[in-house]
Amino acid sequence: MQSESPVRIADITPASDTESLSVTEAHNLIQDHVQPITETETASLKHALGRVLARDIVSPINVPAADNSAMDGYALRSADLDAASTSPTLTLAIAGHAHAGHPFTGRASAGSCVRIMTGAIIPEECDIVLPQELAHRTSDTQVVLPSKTVRPGLNIRRAGEDLAIGQIALRRGRLLTPADLGLMASLGFAEVPVMRTLRVAHFSTGDELRSAGQALESGSVYDSNRYTLHGMLTRAGVQPIDLGLVNDDPASIETALRHACTEADAVITSGGVSAGDADYTRQMMARLGDVAFWKIAMRPGSQLAFGMLDLKGKRTLLFGLPGNPVATMVAFYFFARPALHRLAGAHVPAPVTVRAISEVDIQKKSGRTEFQRGLLSRAPEGELRVRTTGAQGSGILSSMTEANAMIVLHHDRGSVSQGEWVDVLLFDGLT
Ligand code: AMP
Ligand code: MG
Repeated sequence: MQSESPVRIADITPASDTESLSVTEAHNLIQDHVQPITETETASLKHALGRVLARDIVSPINVPAADNSAMDGYALRSADLDAASTSPTLTLAIAGHAHAGHPFTGRASAGSCVRIMTGAIIPEECDIVLPQELAHRTSDTQVVLPSKTVRPGLNIRRAGEDLAIGQIALRRGRLLTPADLGLMASLGFAEVPVMRTLRVAHFSTGDELRSAGQALESGSVYDSNRYTLHGMLTRAGVQPIDLGLVNDDPASIETALRHACTEADAVITSGGVSAGDADYTRQMMARLGDVAFWKIAMRPGSQLAFGMLDLKGKRTLLFGLPGNPVATMVAFYFFARPALHRLAGAHVPAPVTVRAISEVDIQKKSGRTEFQRGLLSRAPEGELRVRTTGAQGSGILSSMTEANAMIVLHHDRGSVSQGEWVDVLLFDGLT
């Protein structure tokens, strides 16, 4: 599915003098090696939420289709106002009514106006709508209006002011939002072309891991990554395929990877990729494909396997994430998620960061990017403030659940003192 890349991923080494890749280098290398899928399908509007738009949507009509009223009031001719400019009021005959869906069909001749409701088409001769609050209705057929408070075009929504015929309404690659669905509905589309949904297999490795319901004997831990990965994959708009818990033995890992390769577009594993590990995950990944094992200058999540499994020509994107629960999440968010978006054909803008004042001192070494779990709030004086959510060990998931944002401490930055500005990334798809 992915096209052959000229450079073997396994041969990529850090360009810098240290043995680690920076977060940016790793991110860019990954993006360079992922080729978007091409298969598309059609989805009804209701089922298109969160899907990747496969083609530009060009407006087949003007929206709105005709000039119409933005207010409930009276549609009139500016020439009548000009003629009455020396007097404070203007008395007009009511020639008829215009409602949304029921246009006025007569003529608004000089000295007359049309009672008009929001959304109704502006009668041909009229070029102003005066809100009803300003009008004094003296009888069923007559209204008195102030002559000086209005200018031509007032309170009229112009044909095509939302979208003009032929204009690109939405660009391909968008992850469709509720507003997008509404916009396409306003153009008359009942269904839209979308990229097919990616299938992404995931499994956890580690002999110490147990599933919920099993006894937790000494030295074992419950498998939490299975669930965080399931959640993050779902939020990323892909279909997760849960391959469960896989023992740290070569046969089980090989079976799981082969299974993933036949079933899925990508596979995400957790555990067993750190350099010191004496387990088989790395060996088996390297045997079944073109996989690099990187040290990345970041924390948490300094180990990452990235590559392509290759099974009889079927290539499957692979991410081997570190096993520590927060490292798994952070590595997924910064590397796997953007890669899956690219694979899916989505163009997703880089997440937005905001600046906030740190409420705490934060120890940090320059030469690596650190992501701290943070709680962002607005101080009574108005500025954004952020504090860390307690212990930041890469295995401590509780401080992740308390967080609403990530404090991003950039590569070259050293320790942060209380009161200094830091960049904060609002959670998006992570919580
Ligand atoms: P590893 O990356 O395999 O060296 O694992 C690093 C740490 O994360 C170890 O303490 C593991 O027990 C823990 N760990 C690995 N996988 C999981 C998982 N699926 N759920 C919870 N903890 C895990
Ligand atoms: Mg392990």
